[in-house]
Amino acid sequence: MLVGMSELSTKLMHTLDGARHLLFPAGCLFCQLPVHDDGVCCADCMQEIRVYPHATCLRCGVVLPESMAPGPCGRCLKYAPPQQQTYALYEYHGPVREAILNWKLAGKEGAARWLVEAALPRLKELILPDDILLPMPSPLSRMQKSGQHHTANLCAWLAMATGAQRQWRLLRRIGEQPRQSSLTGSARRKNLCKAFALSADYRSLLQQRAPDASLWIIDDIFTTGSSVHYAARAMKRTGLLVNVLTLARTEQRGL
Ligand SMILES: [Zn+2]
Ligand SMILES: [Zn+2]
Repeated sequence: MLVGMSELSTKLMHTLDGARHLLFPAGCLFCQLPVHDDGVCCADCMQEIRVYPHATCLRCGVVLPESMAPGPCGRCLKYAPPQQQTYALYEYHGPVREAILNWKLAGKEGAARWLVEAALPRLKELILPDDILLPMPSPLSRMQKSGQHHTANLCAWLAMATGAQRQWRLLRRIGEQPRQSSLTGSARRKNLCKAFALSADYRSLLQQRAPDASLWIIDDIFTTGSSVHYAARAMKRTGLLVNVLTLARTEQRGL
């Protein structure tokens, strides 16, 4: 390379980079305000994003005082949920809430994907490459309406991050149920009681499973936990133990 060429090309790159920012200013993935460095999340949004606390009841995922983690919490001592372990990556709050709503309602997945990538160290602690990820199934009409299977997409991102396997056929939704957000607690439970089943060929779907592989139900938001409860119960009835991981969870404290 000619003397000075490298310096010149570096200067040119800087100039082009500056022009790119002028023409297409980078916006924060969460609030769309300009971000002046190469980041995709502005400082204000970064401050508002809350990682879900790690001191939780291992079984149900409620937040516990540090000294009491990993539980079991008082509720699990009386009535343990059907899943073995429950985790969430973020609190369902502020920019995380906005990101999930934008993804689910407007099909803008950038911020949700970024949240998954940002959680990579935590994900690698939890999910091993032999593990199998099962997307929480949605009623067919809802998938047809949005044109997307959000939890299947979430599983794909998690699989990419961790090397885990995906199995979207194993856990199935039966019939149509109204949106959970429109129902009260007891109506939610009644609504979901018979909403999940395993595929008739679930044994052959799991034939290649490594002996120590964990099964994970993957969902986007954990609010009351009714959906994962009944999905995990359907699995447990056939002798399959599962863990639960959600992208976000409304913070719940237990003792
Ligand atoms: Zn922002
Ligand atoms: Zn618990």
